[in-house]
Amino acid sequence: MADDSIAVVDLDRCQPDRCNYECANFCPPNRTGKDCIVTRGEHYDEDEPYDGGPDQVWISEEICLGESCGICVEKCPFDAIEIINLPSELNQEPVHRYGDNAFALYGLPVPEPGNVTGILGPNGIGKSTAVKMLSGELVPNLGRFDEEAEWEAALDRFRGTELQDYVERVIDGDVSVARKPQYVDQIPKQFDGNTRQLLERTDERGELDYLVESLSIGPVMDQPIDSISGGELQRVALAATLARDVDFYFLDEITPYLDIGQRMTAARLVRELAEDGDRSMMVVEHDLAILDLLADTLHVTYGEPGAYGVVTDPKSVRNGINEYLRGYLDNENMRIRPNAITFEEHAPRESSTAHPLFDYPDLEKSYGEGEFSLTVDGGTVYESEVLGIVGPNGIGKSTMAQLFAGRLEPDAGELDTRLDIAYKPQYIEIDQPMRVDAFLSSITDQFGSSYWNTEIGRPLQLDRVMEQQLTDLSGGERQRVAIAACLSEDADLYLLDEPSAHLDVEQRVQATTAIRRYAENHDATVMVIDHDIYMVDLLADRLMVFDGEPAERGHASPPQEMRAGMNEFLADLDVTFRRDERTGRPRINKPDSQLDREQKREGEYYYSV
Ligand code: ADP
Ligand code: ADP
Ligand code: MG
Repeated sequence: MADDSIAVVDLDRCQPDRCNYECANFCPPNRTGKDCIVTRGEHYDEDEPYDGGPDQVWISEEICLGESCGICVEKCPFDAIEIINLPSELNQEPVHRYGDNAFALYGLPVPEPGNVTGILGPNGIGKSTAVKMLSGELVPNLGRFDEEAEWEAALDRFRGTELQDYVERVIDGDVSVARKPQYVDQIPKQFDGNTRQLLERTDERGELDYLVESLSIGPVMDQPIDSISGGELQRVALAATLARDVDFYFLDEITPYLDIGQRMTAARLVRELAEDGDRSMMVVEHDLAILDLLADTLHVTYGEPGAYGVVTDPKSVRNGINEYLRGYLDNENMRIRPNAITFEEHAPRESSTAHPLFDYPDLEKSYGEGEFSLTVDGGTVYESEVLGIVGPNGIGKSTMAQLFAGRLEPDAGELDTRLDIAYKPQYIEIDQPMRVDAFLSSITDQFGSSYWNTEIGRPLQLDRVMEQQLTDLSGGERQRVAIAACLSEDADLYLLDEPSAHLDVEQRVQATTAIRRYAENHDATVMVIDHDIYMVDLLADRLMVFDGEPAERGHASPPQEMRAGMNEFLADLDVTFRRDERTGRPRINKPDSQLDREQKREGEYYYSV
């Protein structure tokens, strides 16, 4: 086939004992007698080591006709095969290929001493693979997976590039690494003890007290690790990583479960450590506002998750994010998404003020004696508006959502019970023993129609999970199925509690588009609680702001227009935003910069240009 294509067989999905080798039987070259798709047992010599079982398939990238044929991809009942034409701009050999018909990585990010290097892109694209190489854990094989890989060959490849120095240090064994894993939920399974014991093991710089104080970890220091919440675990994992004394820190997301104030603190601590000596910080982050604030340079990664990934040369953070949102990478001359994501300075849409959907009175709710109490000021929700809901963690946002959804009874005030409400809770409860497609078709008879696919299925990338069991889904997959389930209901009001959680940046962008478009096309009213400011900005017509004392008392203001709402919310956080001149996208001002001080003086926290 054209040399710019690759064939990838997912060995976890390929199940020859449960199919009839449809891929091989229908393969056009095979039918003319060629050996394009054969079993691995047939392809390899008996004593030659290879990945996978002898009955799993191997595809010849020389003989294969390429993506335009695609018959094996269609025929495989388990979606195990991908045939992909690589972009012709990518005229180079991979930096690494895991094996025959396995994932290929092109390009590597460049760690820079004293700087924060950001990585922006979807999951499954090779970020961890890159880090394993930069840390010396994995030797790049330059695509020659059948030979013993050597760093010297990689050095030849990178000589004269920005990576040369770093690769020389790796060869000399002169690189030390600390890494914060993406899934902090796994930590309690690996560590048995309390927070203090975990943190004391990594206190190599003598800065633990400072980190514990900054991240407000104090209250959970003596609690067992398996008893603390996701947000607490995230902050503990950050402290444990930043407390280390190494050259190279790799942080696979710093914001999950954190509210905006906590995200800002995490970003500040990472920056401080970069500026303290010659440490290199490398950060994967899906919250674009935080990434923008945090990073000095940015690598965008694109490709086909699970099949191949390309790490671009470093870009300025501003250009990198702008190009990513536009869906077109300038230097690479590469389209990565058909549509651009655009920000507007929201003028309230006309329809949103026209017809009230419902009014609600002042509400009160408390848990137990002297525990948390919430007061909600009464207000009006309009037909066909998207209402954003923001505030710190533990302030009562989910409690209010449950009141509106009819899952909790208010102590004072009464809600209109005639409305049909579709509700996606923060902690998703779909765990029936059922396949995704069966679950979704039990919600709407539109399921599978071209309309449903365009509006919901495709933007939420549900194709590859349809045949999976609900119980087997990863966090991000479960989130997308839950958003789809919520939007598939026929309701007056759609209530989404933290839809961005567990989603990578591309999925957030797509989910935002889906929710926004759904609201517009259906004159639907949507309420969205989220900590991702870009998501809120792209989605919301008006804003509801929470304040109070987390875990003690919360207060919700009536919905207000975006400008006033953002000003109230950001003043509380002491954060100002400016607008990127070219794209209108909001950017966090560096604390105490000239703009920051000016805007605070004028009380314009968000909409100043
Ligand atoms: P990311 O960090 O961007 O989520 P990874 O680097 O973890 O992505 O993985 C990229 C791809 O490489 C995934 O499709 C994964 O399945 C594949 N992969 C990772 N490790 C191996 C391995 N040891 N052998 C074969 N494939 C692998
Ligand atoms: P948010 O969604 O803003 O993070 P929540 O509404 O989830 O806040 O929680 C607000 C406060 O109420 C927190 O301190 C939380 O621990 C407490 N809380 C939530 N649910 C319950 C409950 N069922 N019983 C007792 N306290 C609760
Ligand atoms: Mg909540």
